[in-house]
Amino acid sequence: MKEQTKRAEMYYAEPVYRPPSEAYSLLVQATVGCSCAAAGRCYFCNSTVFQREIPEKKFRIRPTSEILEDIEIGGRQYRGVDKIFLLDSNAMIIKAPELLKIVRKCYETFPRLKQVACYACCEDILRKSDDELLELRKAGLNLVFIGLESGDQEVLELINKGVTVEDQIESVVKANRAGIQTSVTVILGLGGKRLSHQHAVNTGKAATLMNPSFFAALTLMVVPGTVLEDMIKRGEFELITDPLDILKEVELMIDNIEAPGPVVFRTNHASNYLPLKGTLPADKERLLTTIRRAVGNPAILRTEYMRGL
Ligand code: SF4
Repeated sequence: MKEQTKRAEMYYAEPVYRPPSEAYSLLVQATVGCSCAAAGRCYFCNSTVFQREIPEKKFRIRPTSEILEDIEIGGRQYRGVDKIFLLDSNAMIIKAPELLKIVRKCYETFPRLKQVACYACCEDILRKSDDELLELRKAGLNLVFIGLESGDQEVLELINKGVTVEDQIESVVKANRAGIQTSVTVILGLGGKRLSHQHAVNTGKAATLMNPSFFAALTLMVVPGTVLEDMIKRGEFELITDPLDILKEVELMIDNIEAPGPVVFRTNHASNYLPLKGTLPADKERLLTTIRRAVGNPAILRTEYMRGL
């Protein structure tokens, strides 16, 4: 029987995305694309464009054997790996028994490994039992990144997120309960001008109930080819164009976060006008003061030209 040729390189379906904090992690392609994009959800997201236009990026879960082989290849090529990020959005969709094999293989292969992380949609967490999540955490899956986007139900419906705020909150609470750290992302400006106030207030309230380990805000950038772009052209979504209105949102949002903490809050993504970093609740007043100072001195804000770079 003909022996299968062994691959020499790890497989990647490009372009790949990972959170800013995973910049030095070994990336392992566990799934390709995003199941939510495949379902036509999230009108603002570039994954929906990839799903439609790049055949190689159509959502799929890779066979476990291929993922394990990639980890072995990585083990031969890289020394001293201490963090692994499982690509793409949403590797947490993989069923618990298979995900366990993948996480365990990571730790067997890299003796210095301290963290395995991945993106998760809320239903990927809700479909897993408490025991499965606990087992995954014990195996070393210790951080999940979840896109809340907004804590306001009307905003979630406007951008077709396809989930409720309650489910999003429950998924984070469930992961927290299993001891898995949670990093929650929201998008400033996602409610447009009309829903800006309730987007900010209710996102702060959702963060309070979630009490995640990390909470990060991006600022909306319109991706060409998305449904959101069409909505803007049709006048169905009025984009916030004044950076000071975005600062008002982030101020209102932080003001409404009453989580017991500690929640590490960041706006370090390149889409933001003002980088902020602090731990809530301890740094709440300092963060609010920084925002108010920036409102009084907009020259310090990242220019439109530099956003996203
Ligand atoms: S779940 Fe995240 S990656 Fe997937 S389509 Fe929605 S925003 Fe994009």
